[in-house]
Amino acid sequence: MTAQENAKLAILREQLDSRRSELHARLGRVEAELQSSHSKGFADQATEREQDEVLEGKEAVFDHELAQIEAAITRIDNGSYGQCSKCGQAIAPARLAAQPEAPLCISCASSS
Ligand SMILES: [Zn+2]
Repeated sequence: MTAQENAKLAILREQLDSRRSELHARLGRVEAELQSSHSKGFADQATEREQDEVLEGKEAVFDHELAQIEAAITRIDNGSYGQCSKCGQAIAPARLAAQPEAPLCISCASSS
């Protein structure tokens, strides 16, 4: 790997790292909201359940993104970043530019 590629990866790793911290913070807020929605004592049980579902949906999205970002950071650290984790082919740079944490190449992603 060239020094230039290394430098690019170092920048990317920093970006993923800050995205990870942001997601951790958001997850914390969602969890706090989930807890407080129970203590608020909504008169309407259905409203409370609806709110919980929205929050749990958000939690699942953040959780999923966090897992992908953590996996991408691990791939940067072990030198396998940019390779498809299914077929081992290089992931297209345009795809990585659009979605830096993408674990799969376009053909594996569309066939799964
Ligand atoms: Zn692939």
